[in-house]
Amino acid sequence: MLSYSDARQKVIEVAGGLKRPLLLTQVEIEQAFGRILAKPVLADRDYPPFDRSTRDGFAVRSGDAKVPGARLECIGELRAGGQFDARVESGQCVEIMTGASVPQGADAVVMIEHIQRDGRTVTLERAAAPGDHIVSRGSEARAGALLVAEKTRLGYAEMALAAQAGATRLEVFAAPRLGILSTGDEVVDARSTPGPLQVRNSNGISIEILARTAGAETTQLGNAPDEKHALKAAIERGLEADILVLSGGVSMGKYDLVEQVLADLGAEFHFTGVSIRPGRPAVFGTCRNKLVFGLPGNPVSTMVTFELFVLPAIDVLNGGTARPLPVFRARLATRVREKGPITHFLPARIEWQGSEARVTQLPWQGSGDIVALALANGFLVVGPDRPEIEPGEWVDVLPRRGAI
Ligand code: AMP
Ligand code: MG
Repeated sequence: MLSYSDARQKVIEVAGGLKRPLLLTQVEIEQAFGRILAKPVLADRDYPPFDRSTRDGFAVRSGDAKVPGARLECIGELRAGGQFDARVESGQCVEIMTGASVPQGADAVVMIEHIQRDGRTVTLERAAAPGDHIVSRGSEARAGALLVAEKTRLGYAEMALAAQAGATRLEVFAAPRLGILSTGDEVVDARSTPGPLQVRNSNGISIEILARTAGAETTQLGNAPDEKHALKAAIERGLEADILVLSGGVSMGKYDLVEQVLADLGAEFHFTGVSIRPGRPAVFGTCRNKLVFGLPGNPVSTMVTFELFVLPAIDVLNGGTARPLPVFRARLATRVREKGPITHFLPARIEWQGSEARVTQLPWQGSGDIVALALANGFLVVGPDRPEIEPGEWVDVLPRRGAI
């Protein structure tokens, strides 16, 4: 059985090899967060567009201020956005604000904190060197230079940069459409009142939120019963999406029919189990040129397997590269005993003492226990065949998306 990292790699490979054109779309910049840029953003002019003062102070000729104590005559004031027509001659200075354009003749700014002023006479308490507190025109980017490259995932910094260059309408790759189908005779809509032996569909919401925040457009396809014909019809509808995510019906039970129905529909399976707990029966295949995930229905299994396997597929179908799993190291606070040749993802609480992360495993009733998961802000990741892990040892942890 595949390790989780090999299974992830498989997903990335298959998603990358899918013959599917990347569709382009234009979006207003506010709507572009998390999308992958399809057309690069170039600098519309030099940045900064003029020699810019980075301090409030006095614009001077550095030649006048080689040593502290220079006395200069202040000939005017320059505010941000303001123009100054005269040239600063030797012996002169101009009061200048942060963000203002350095006047002609001046080549340094002395901070307001380092001067004494008496009427028009300014005494510099420090020497000045050419370029002090000035960012020169074009030093950040020249007009026409590449600011945000194609295939970049748009975050707040890239978006601010695009806004600065006036690129407020951006060409991005269309988001993949992801269909969400739960299965199970016992599963009812979360808005309905369950019978005593029924459960409300909670996977619908966890999958939707994980998928949307990862950059997919979601469609809820409801719930299919554990009956071949109805399941087949629901899956066929689901295959209109780019990625179909099923929950439930992939274990060994007599009424776990998802794999069988997918096979009947001609699916090619890339894995039908992964060496992890929770989530061992997770299934991944392609069917009619679409990606299909059969995730185990236990809510924690669904969330873990979605994080591990569906998220990278969304990244790739979005036109980007799969983001790495944000696993990091923390010090174990309490002893952990988990056996078996599989990797465990255990609900855990990660806290920081200064910059050191410490992790505590939380008590839980297994992969159906979302009560425990909601108290957890991450997973303790215990690799295969590890003996007891003692408090104080370094262990891997995976943050729960959005909880840290
Ligand atoms: P399955 O993977 O179909 O064997 O289901 C495993 C467990 O998860 C069972 O206890 C199901 O009742 C539960 N389950 C399946 N689907 C959902 C769902 N959509 N929401 C909440 N629990 C579910
Ligand atoms: Mg079921």
